[in-house]
Amino acid sequence: LVIAADVRKHFGPLEVLKGINVSVQKGEVLCIIGPSGSGKSTFLRCINQLERIDGGAIWVGGELIGYRREGDNLHELNDAQIARQRRAIGMVFQRFNLFPHLTVTENIIEGPVQVLRENPNEAKKRAHALLERVGLYDKRDVYPAHLSGGQQQRVAIARALAMQPQLLLFDEPTSALDPELVGEVLNVMRDLAQTGMTMIVVTHELGFAREVSHRTAFMDQGQLVEVGDSRSVLANPQQARTREFISAVH
Ligand code: ATP
Ligand code: MG
Repeated sequence: LVIAADVRKHFGPLEVLKGINVSVQKGEVLCIIGPSGSGKSTFLRCINQLERIDGGAIWVGGELIGYRREGDNLHELNDAQIARQRRAIGMVFQRFNLFPHLTVTENIIEGPVQVLRENPNEAKKRAHALLERVGLYDKRDVYPAHLSGGQQQRVAIARALAMQPQLLLFDEPTSALDPELVGEVLNVMRDLAQTGMTMIVVTHELGFAREVSHRTAFMDQGQLVEVGDSRSVLANPQQARTREFISAVH
């Protein structure tokens, strides 16, 4: 479903992604681990076109991201075409970014109604079903300020799902949470994985990576140093840099 081929990105003189190659099958969960500043968020932002890549290519669902090929020429997509591609990709951030002036249900139906032009009543029904799924149906009419961080993050996941994305990206979804709230968010993500959602998850939760994700990639200094079956990468890393990182996180 996702193919990244020699993806490069720099900010001025700083090379942040130095040729990333990785693919993710439909229904697969890939975890990306690695030290601060290694380029994990930048890579997710490139997939989601919050950043433009400087080299290489990314395909999602068979479509080249950001470009259209005509014979041997590549043409940049226009804003509407980029917006259409971005709709198919959900993203959940470290900070939940819910709209504070909207209730939980209103937060979830905003995209479906405004962007997908769904009927508001239908959207609301779907929102409520999604809230059941993340265990928050009873909070459907409250404002985000009345929710714990873990609950807000579960609403953010429901909101991403409401757009019916073919791919979900998570950027350290539990890093801003108090430790006792991490589990409820990881459980929702585990359920999603079990329903076959394709997910790329940047996380420091090595337990989640080992138990839920199919493959784990270790990123360091803009390169994927090691990618493989999660259990083997985490239990028996082949690269010294991966070993050092894993023992430092434990
Ligand atoms: P963390 O674990 O701390 O979130 P990360 O692996 O997600 O780190 P990135 O946020 O992708 O790392 O950043 C990679 C490098 O790119 C860092 O050195 C960062 O300072 C730099 N960087 C990221 N965004 C920009 C930007 N918009 N302009 C300039 N430099 C940037
Ligand atoms: Mg980051």
